[in-house]
Amino acid sequence: MNVALLNDYEIDIERLGIELEEQGYERYEVKKQLDDRYRRFSQKGDFRCVCCDEQVEMVLSEDKVFFFRHSDKEKCSYSENHKTYKSQKEKLENAPKHRAGKAILRTYLEGTCKTNDIRLTDGYRFKSTLTFVPDFILEFSNGQRWAIDYLTGLKTDRKYANSLNKRRHTYIQHHFTPIFLFDSYWLAYEPEIHHVSLVDGELLCVSQTKQDYLWTDFICGLDSNLKNALLNNRPFKLQVKSMAYFAPHEREINIIRFLQENENLRKTRTVYKPIKVPLEKALTINHEQSDFIYTNEKEDGYREEFKRELEQMYQQQENQRKQQELERARKEEEERKQIEFYRAWEEEQKKKATQNTRDYYDSTADVPFTGRTKHQMDADLKRDMKSLQRKNHSNNSYLQAIQHMSKYYGVDG
Ligand SMILES: [Zn+2]
Repeated sequence: MNVALLNDYEIDIERLGIELEEQGYERYEVKKQLDDRYRRFSQKGDFRCVCCDEQVEMVLSEDKVFFFRHSDKEKCSYSENHKTYKSQKEKLENAPKHRAGKAILRTYLEGTCKTNDIRLTDGYRFKSTLTFVPDFILEFSNGQRWAIDYLTGLKTDRKYANSLNKRRHTYIQHHFTPIFLFDSYWLAYEPEIHHVSLVDGELLCVSQTKQDYLWTDFICGLDSNLKNALLNNRPFKLQVKSMAYFAPHEREINIIRFLQENENLRKTRTVYKPIKVPLEKALTINHEQSDFIYTNEKEDGYREEFKRELEQMYQQQENQRKQQELERARKEEEERKQIEFYRAWEEEQKKKATQNTRDYYDSTADVPFTGRTKHQMDADLKRDMKSLQRKNHSNNSYLQAIQHMSKYYGVDG
């Protein structure tokens, strides 16, 4: 464990070591300084366990984290929990990132807890032994308890999701409300296709806050055109949900709100871009004391903006549809004209053929038949082609044939 009581005053030996290192001291110098300062108190049995008040001793080693241990080698929940906590964080988290982010989170939680009369402690200082140890425990005056974890080492595999699920269940079994904050690095959002990517681990932490219900009501109240533009023929459940990501260095929580498909929860449709909320706002306790509020109270405006976007989208879709309709009407008209033209041409040909025959008989009345003239053979060829095209061709190739023939023979044949 990192903390012990000296004359009822808490000494966090780990934090003192880190602070000195940050001032630029080498590890051996840090160890010497702390030895000079605290070794005799340890030898005189002055350090007590914050959990069970038994005597503890200071252990300083150059290659390990500084800590206290029970002098009689007995264990209490604190020392057990601290060991569990350390090993879990080492295994699952990005250690430097987690340490820095946790320190920032602590500062803001201290503020929230002070104004709400909530007791804030490190998870490992819980009075009974836990199999999963959270970063922080919040104890409300009405007896309610939260377990808060800052998660930096998200993995996409099923194993990670299972361990997170187990962690959550353990918290619930111990009557904690579990609160997981993923590091904002894991927020993957694509505005063009309105998508936020969620792996199994994240899916476990999707929540539905008061703001999500307001968004849901808003969407349900939209007219059907806008709703269709939003759903785009996909099987989304009409229920807005959200994820909160922690951005410690920006001092923000990033909230993303979205719909999910019924059958595949990884298929999402975001309703708004990630909303950046300053930590002190986002980490306000909600009315039911069941979660943080995760909002900056400007969301009415965001909803109106979202509606305008949908209206624009609908307008675009409408324009496109009208355009396509016009195009189709134009094509139909063109085809109709071509067919009309061909019929007229055919009519003309028929008339001419009759005329020709009449001419032929007129001019050859008293001359004996000797064979087909060049003019007659051309007429025969045209007639044969026409009947062939009529027999074999569907509408489209029929039209092509007409076009081809019209070109070949000229309008009058
Ligand atoms: Zn103890």
